[in-house]
Amino acid sequence: MLNPQQLLLKLTKNVTLNQLCVTNYPEYRSVNLEYGYSMRIELKKTAIMFEYLCEMFGPLLVTSGIRCSALNEDKRVGSNSKSAHPRGEALDFKPILEGITVMQIFEQLRKNKDFLVGQVIVYADEGFIHISRFVGRSKRDFRICRLVDGKRTYEKITVA
Ligand SMILES: [Zn+2]
Repeated sequence: MLNPQQLLLKLTKNVTLNQLCVTNYPEYRSVNLEYGYSMRIELKKTAIMFEYLCEMFGPLLVTSGIRCSALNEDKRVGSNSKSAHPRGEALDFKPILEGITVMQIFEQLRKNKDFLVGQVIVYADEGFIHISRFVGRSKRDFRICRLVDGKRTYEKITVA
């Protein structure tokens, strides 16, 4: 178990460990926080990316950040072994305030050639965005995911 000081760890000025260890599945919360703490150096880099996203788009809600292997392998998460989430390199997020949509965020990120990033997937029908840091693979790889008959279908988008 993490002690209170570890639990309240700030990764950057505005981003906490807690924020990047969030999960919809409460049974993993504690183990995922411990795993996140052990990966805090990687998470600091991801927190810097998240701060930059918040500067661009206003307040954002992380819906999934780092995932311990048990969480990532849970069928309900719909992830796979190649996911950047267990490495602490990826985030899923959505805007907190109305006035900007996930498609608008996706378009602005796509046009921002200076934003060195790994993979960006907008889940158009589910209302969130997946983003990973660039760590030597999948450089500025932009995709749109739509639900077709309930199945996730991905379309690669050309970027400059
Ligand atoms: Zn994701």
